[in-house]
Amino acid sequence: MSHTHHPDNCLNCSHHLEPQDKFCAECGQPANTHARITLPHIGHEIVHVVTHADKGFFYLIKALTLQPGLTIKEYLSGKHKKYYSPFSFFFIVLGLVVFTNSVFKPYESFNQMNSSAAGASTQLLAKKNISEAEKQKISKKLEKLRKIDVRVAKAMHFMNTRTNIVLGISTPFIAFVIFLLYYKRLFYAEQLSIVTFINGYLNLLSVVIFSPLMYLAKGTPWYGMLLFIMMLMHIVYTAIVYHRVLDMRYSFGGYLKAALTSLAGITGWTIVCVIVVTLYIAWGVLY
Ligand SMILES: [Zn+2]
Repeated sequence: MSHTHHPDNCLNCSHHLEPQDKFCAECGQPANTHARITLPHIGHEIVHVVTHADKGFFYLIKALTLQPGLTIKEYLSGKHKKYYSPFSFFFIVLGLVVFTNSVFKPYESFNQMNSSAAGASTQLLAKKNISEAEKQKISKKLEKLRKIDVRVAKAMHFMNTRTNIVLGISTPFIAFVIFLLYYKRLFYAEQLSIVTFINGYLNLLSVVIFSPLMYLAKGTPWYGMLLFIMMLMHIVYTAIVYHRVLDMRYSFGGYLKAALTSLAGITGWTIVCVIVVTLYIAWGVLY
């Protein structure tokens, strides 16, 4: 008969447990885990997740808000248990992004620009005193604008509904650009972890703050302002993280280097996006 309060074998992996074991030596599950799940147990679990000072989801958010550079630097130096995994964090945020984008559709107000251009051409067509040749010319132009309209709308719709795909590609891409700049100092996997933390956090901000505000600001000058602030925040936050993680100097030169590092990653990704969207629109208009 056992003299301990836990079973002789781990309930998770069946590894033999010694009487003094607090955790399974094989898989790490607490030795005193009960086989039957009770309501008090679930209650305890939920309280644990929400309030746990260490390694919880909310603890990570707090840490990434107050000390982003230090937090990520500590994670890179081996403090993995202290913080919620950047990849679990990222995927939870992705889920939230897909949900809020489907509600707020923050990127679906761009195509008004071309619609008004098309509207102007339609007005021209309605005029009586223009030649048949001119009419045809305007018709052609109008047809082109309509095609561009459709493609822009489709691209924006993609941004709204497939943000998870866009983010899933942009994160490893930005990490790769910055990896090229500092390939002697950090592995690609380390850069990927850094950018995953950053993108996870910044997209959480989008979910909580920017998407609802952009929804409210659609069609007003504030919309462009919000986009600008969001972009600026990306650049500044990324710079703050890299300044600390790569131990840059606390001088003008050091801050400039951090800003340029951040800009390199974001600009690289923006160029790729612009090229892809332009090709997509051109393809639809020319063929
Ligand atoms: Zn075990």
